[in-house]
Amino acid sequence: MTRMVPKLIKCAVCDQQSEQMVLGSTSSFGAPDLDGRPPSLMRYTISCWVQRCPSCGYCAPQIAEPGVKTTEVMADAFYQTQLHNHSFPVLANSFLCAALIQQQQGQLADAGWSCVHAAWVCDDERNTIAAQHCRHKAIALLQQATDAGQQTHADPEHGALLLTDVLRRSGEFAAAAAYCQHMLAQPLSPLVQRMLAAQQALITRRDTSGYTIEEAIGETTYHTLLEQQKKEGERDA
Ligand SMILES: [Zn+2]
Repeated sequence: MTRMVPKLIKCAVCDQQSEQMVLGSTSSFGAPDLDGRPPSLMRYTISCWVQRCPSCGYCAPQIAEPGVKTTEVMADAFYQTQLHNHSFPVLANSFLCAALIQQQQGQLADAGWSCVHAAWVCDDERNTIAAQHCRHKAIALLQQATDAGQQTHADPEHGALLLTDVLRRSGEFAAAAAYCQHMLAQPLSPLVQRMLAAQQALITRRDTSGYTIEEAIGETTYHTLLEQQKKEGERDA
């Protein structure tokens, strides 16, 4: 059951109130995508993951919270152009604008994720060119985040899976293959090893489509390895 409820929220930049949809509760069924995109029903709550103030155009996960240098970024012509860029779906523009603010604040991993979310919105609208643009931005930010010592995922293995998938789906096959090979030389869990091997096969086929983990490695393999991982986790706990 998913509940998205309207809520009046006061913008921290212009003090105007607006109705924003917030997530009440949700659940997920099935396997996530290779880049970690959640399955339904969580998948379809993406419009709640970023808020846009209709008065001043402030975009953030929570517009009630002010941020450092927010007004400075918003005054920039680049922000204003992105906010109303007709080459992207409106929701993708909100994520990309939120990313510009997060980037300026040094939250590089968050900014990278906002660009990944923007790409998912473009995928849903079948806007391949816009999705590719969002993924290229995400790659730069995720790599900058890693260089700055910021974690791109609570689980570093999943951070690596995310970057591999973003590289592949943006058509950066050589970089995706090299990164995949580098990661496979590290000690990894069997599930992650299998997912990276599946990525290698997709990279070889120059396939830029999105896949769920079940589609990529097979439903039975996924559930067996997941179960094995859970048992090992319980044993180590
Ligand atoms: Zn505002």
